[in-house]
Amino acid sequence: TETVVSRANTRMEQSHPSSFWHTFCDMNAVSQKPKFVVSRAEGVWLWDEHGDRYLDGTASLWYCHVGHGRSEIADAVHQQLTTLDAYAVYGDFANTPALRLSERLASHAPMDNPRTILTCGGGEAIETAAKLARKYWSVSGKPEKTHVISRAGGYHGLHGFGTSIIGMERFRSGYGEIVADTSVVPYDSVRALEDEILRVGPERTAAFFAEPVIGSGGVYAPPEGYFAAVAELCRRYGVLFVVDSVICGFGRLGDWFGIERFGVRPDMIVFAKGVSSGYLPLGGVITSGEVAEPFWERSGNPFIHGTTYAGHPSCSAAALANLDILEREDLFGAAEEVESQLDAAVRMLAEHPLVREVRSGTGAMAAVELTGEALYERGVTTADVFAEARSRGVIVRAIPRSLLVSPPLTVTWEHIDHLVSTLRAALDAVE
Ligand code: PLP
Repeated sequence: TETVVSRANTRMEQSHPSSFWHTFCDMNAVSQKPKFVVSRAEGVWLWDEHGDRYLDGTASLWYCHVGHGRSEIADAVHQQLTTLDAYAVYGDFANTPALRLSERLASHAPMDNPRTILTCGGGEAIETAAKLARKYWSVSGKPEKTHVISRAGGYHGLHGFGTSIIGMERFRSGYGEIVADTSVVPYDSVRALEDEILRVGPERTAAFFAEPVIGSGGVYAPPEGYFAAVAELCRRYGVLFVVDSVICGFGRLGDWFGIERFGVRPDMIVFAKGVSSGYLPLGGVITSGEVAEPFWERSGNPFIHGTTYAGHPSCSAAALANLDILEREDLFGAAEEVESQLDAAVRMLAEHPLVREVRSGTGAMAAVELTGEALYERGVTTADVFAEARSRGVIVRAIPRSLLVSPPLTVTWEHIDHLVSTLRAALDAVE
């Protein structure tokens, strides 16, 4: 056996130098190091290529709501692939899973007479929503309404529009101006949004994009009453209110789209991730009937936009099976439990000398922000904490100042306890 193992190890060492380009990473550093190869996953656990086990404290990249290894989803996809693998929905072509999924999502959307456009992911859905917002105003006789406002800290994917409206400078620099007529306002101020609409001019402002709770920007929940005031403002000035539920949807905030919690009705909802728990890529946009009206009720206004794989039947089948699990196991209700258990556990880290602030309690997600002293005087990095946690068998996520957690909605109290106590040990180790 030993010979077999050592041969396997040699093979793995040799296989690491690779042409695979890890975007988001400094390849000059990463290409010199062994990669972290994930080989298998089951429930809330994953295993690396050496057989070591890790708790998935981030549901991969905020998406695996139902946990890993669900055979129902694999079976549904197998069934679909062997019935109708794929056929484009171009023109009037359709397929049953895409039709069923669109209907099912629309039936839960907090808007009147909703319509669904399917895409292959979140960034593509952001492009779709932003282009649709501009086109809506154009076909409504107001082509000058093109400006899109978003929030500091907001993340909306990294396609053209997403890169232009993202609320974090580091994702934007180096590309020049991709999309004109965009601006960013503070994440928590209704007044700042109104000032910006008035500065740009309501007659030029097309849409406001916001995540219900800012996710990968660092887990920032809105202040009390924020979204009610925003929705009112958008209505008053004729600005489309677009909710980016890519992270907050499908249970992360305990409901379908994450915005229901704040009691408001948006004009569009952008979704992805938890809709299929990432088993296959899928995203989309749900629009209100009012936004759809000029396209559906008047002839001569096609929305000429889309991609080859949008409405893919096998991806739609995966999403339908995933939604079956979310509903059957009431993972919406479970998420509320996870939210309060995670909040209780992670708050204890606020006492840690390296920790400036813990943000949790709105959704099954949390951020642990390090102090300025630790980061800028003592040279501690969140990457160090992340690495210490991973070496102890727990995956968290590092952004420049915070560690983020967003576990699958199937976690138990024991998993949460393990996650948070390992994060504490990782903080201790770098102190
Ligand atoms: N919107 C939000 C809120 C996201 O968190 C993300 C991805 O993390 C996106 C949009 C982009 O989705 P995708 O990575 O599928 O393009």
